[in-house]
Amino acid sequence: IDWQEFDLNDVASSAIHIIHGEAERRGITLNTNQPTTELPVRADKVHVQQVVLNLATNAMDAMMDADSAKRILTFATGIEKERAELCVVDTGNGIPEERLSSIFEPFYTTKNAGTGLGLSISRAIVETYGGTISAYNRPEGGAIFRVVLPLARREA
Ligand code: ADP
Ligand code: MG
Repeated sequence: IDWQEFDLNDVASSAIHIIHGEAERRGITLNTNQPTTELPVRADKVHVQQVVLNLATNAMDAMMDADSAKRILTFATGIEKERAELCVVDTGNGIPEERLSSIFEPFYTTKNAGTGLGLSISRAIVETYGGTISAYNRPEGGAIFRVVLPLARREA
């Protein structure tokens, strides 16, 4: 593991940079919040980047049967209970409530060519760094995937 201290906000901006071409091809609008505060975390940055790209790929897949005017993928960062948080929010159809716990199991997939490994690997990675990953449905429709990591240091 290549441990580094980095700003979780940078992971959100690189994810946008990496996927913007694909998002454009798929008629998806990308959104992010203006970072209000630094979010220093300690982890292998490449691993965390991989997790967020997994979540973003799932989010894009989930929006392909929605009207293209309503395909919006949002990366939102912030501090929650003195931990760093990054949420990936989509406007797809969400996840059936009774499936919210199964989606993190290895090989669970609803896609024809899915591996069903993305979320289980993502959870394992995040837990390696003392964090958590969880899924919710938005009341307005769509899903929220929330990655929480310990802050490497407390801002003064
Ligand atoms: P895969 O993408 O190969 O299917 P994942 O582990 O990444 O495997 O995801 C497992 C399943 O969780 C998906 O097949 C899908 O049913 C569900 N899922 C994941 N992300 C979302 C999302 N943003 N909206 C709706 N369903 C989702
Ligand atoms: Mg996936």
